[in-house]
Amino acid sequence: MPNIDLHLHTVHSDGALRVEALLNLALSKNLTCVSITDHDTFDAYSTAPKIAESLGVELVPGIEVSSVSNGRDIHILGYFCDIQNAEFLAALKIQSEKRKDRVRAIIEKLRNLGLNIDYEQVERQCFGASISRPHVASAMLEAGLVSSFQDAFERYLKEGAAAYCPPKGLTSEEAISLIKKAGGLAVMAHPEYTNADELIPTLVDYGIAGLEVYNYKTAKSTKKYSKIAKKYGLVETGGSDYHGGNSLLGVQKLPYSIVEELRARLAGGD
Ligand code: AMP
Ligand code: MN
Ligand code: MN
Ligand code: MN
Repeated sequence: MPNIDLHLHTVHSDGALRVEALLNLALSKNLTCVSITDHDTFDAYSTAPKIAESLGVELVPGIEVSSVSNGRDIHILGYFCDIQNAEFLAALKIQSEKRKDRVRAIIEKLRNLGLNIDYEQVERQCFGASISRPHVASAMLEAGLVSSFQDAFERYLKEGAAAYCPPKGLTSEEAISLIKKAGGLAVMAHPEYTNADELIPTLVDYGIAGLEVYNYKTAKSTKKYSKIAKKYGLVETGGSDYHGGNSLLGVQKLPYSIVEELRARLAGGD
């Protein structure tokens, strides 16, 4: 049976690898069904389907949409959407512009803290449409303002830190609705990292079909989220959230039955 990974990033958002390198790496790790889920963009899909086909890797169309609920930063994965859906693409274009506004606001806060970087320095770190905090962190590291990428997040960029600004884009309700209207299934990403369990019932009301229960980095919480998923009848999905580097892509063995369950939900009109 193929081993799957439904949460991967490329250079089209904040991942380190281009599509071809990522899919080759996935194959070398025995992952034969994957989803590229870049933040707020389907740009990887301009080349990914052909490359995946040539490698014999099954590709599930995917995206990770940034949204806000109750002032919290909530990531919603969308699977099996029509990546040409006009309403969704229009919303993603606005989302891309709002990301630029947010990064400008973060830079302003950093400047007020005496850390001088400019937008162009951050933009140089970003290949695609989704400029984001990791690009700010990389620019800060390059400018010698922090000791490491992680240091930038811990001291300035993570939720609640001195230069944090909440995303300016879609609400979770809007994100889930767009995914569903594009024929896809919405899944709440990495609930442990998000740490907003109290919002899960609301997201269920908005129409999520799944919860990302399996991530090798948060294995301790798998049981807890599996229980919550069962309570609300959610598909238990999983993925590595791979962004590049030496992380353990392929160590987590997830069965293909997860993809079959998602397909069954779609067929059932979810
Ligand atoms: P943004 O889309 O600008 O909100 O950036 C979110 C991305 O930043 C996530 O997808 C992660 O890749 C990364 N990230 C978020 N929090 C942290 C953290 N505490 N440490 C390192 N990277 C993080
Ligand atoms: Mn990311
Ligand atoms: Mn995420
Ligand atoms: Mn992710």
